[in-house]
Amino acid sequence: AAKRHGRNHSRRFRPSLEVEGDPQLELLNELRQALAHGTQLELFYQTQHYLDDGRLAGMEALLRWYHPTQGMISPASFIPLAERHGLMSALGDWVIERACAQVAAWRQQGVSFVPVWINISAVQLIQGDLEAKLSASLAKYHVPAAMLGLELTESVLLDERAGDISARLVALRDKGHPIAIDDFGTGYSSMAYLKQLPVDKLKLDRAFVRALPEDSADAAITSAVLAMARGLELDVVAEGVETEEQRDFLLAQGCAMVQGFLYARPERVADVEARLRRDAEVSLP
Ligand code: C2E
Ligand code: MG
Ligand code: MG
Ligand code: MG
Repeated sequence: AAKRHGRNHSRRFRPSLEVEGDPQLELLNELRQALAHGTQLELFYQTQHYLDDGRLAGMEALLRWYHPTQGMISPASFIPLAERHGLMSALGDWVIERACAQVAAWRQQGVSFVPVWINISAVQLIQGDLEAKLSASLAKYHVPAAMLGLELTESVLLDERAGDISARLVALRDKGHPIAIDDFGTGYSSMAYLKQLPVDKLKLDRAFVRALPEDSADAAITSAVLAMARGLELDVVAEGVETEEQRDFLLAQGCAMVQGFLYARPERVADVEARLRRDAEVSLP
């Protein structure tokens, strides 16, 4: 009898129980308010570096949410929530606006002239008016599109709801935005896509970097991606580089750029600025 009342039974009842006083929906409301008030949200920046000499290659903007009682909540948990409940488009607009303002400030202060990369959710391509929002923010802050890179994951590229993604990416790139495929190797993008899509850069997912150089499968995958990228004339940024052994392996395999804790963590604006100013002073003649 226990078997007959098995899993299906309890599964069917669980969702309805969870809807009442759903902590996720509560969190969503709090996120909506945080966005409306412009408080609690902040963009952190993580620097990217050329492997051969360590100089600055770019920065990735990474969203942070300081919840009043729960502390810092990871974007890996609140971004999917926003995506599921119609908040991602507005959240994405906020990121675009703030990133453009930051690029303008850094250029004006002479702090940094490398592109800032923002993460673009599939939802922004499906629901929102991404192109219009990008154009408006760039114009408002007098920032050239070349200074605002767009990171898209492979799942975004394959999402049919985003319309003719290839045409839209061509238009964005014609405007000057550099385009990167994020978390490369973890999705299902076929090699045919790489040939068709107007992409500048692959970001090799941290999953392949973590166990380098010991794990021979990861080493083989990494070498193959780098060889393919060379043939297609695409840049590669290795994500999640934490150790000198990983860096040395990537350098030996001809990887051009890295991003990871070995170089820098995602930091608040003031901390990035302080570090970049210090580095600039060090390298003064
Ligand atoms: P992602 O775009 O792949 O960003 C890289 C993630 O790896 C970041 O996590 C970063 O902090 C982390 N990371 C960088 N270097 C290292 C390292 O050496 N070791 C380890 N262990 N981790 C490293 P974070 O900031 O928690 O962001 C997680 C994900 O949330 C991002 O992955 C991205 O998919 C999403 N996300 C963050 N900000 C935004 C945003 O503004 N818009 C959208 N749509 N998604 C965002
Ligand atoms: Mg990213
Ligand atoms: Mg990534
Ligand atoms: Mg990732």
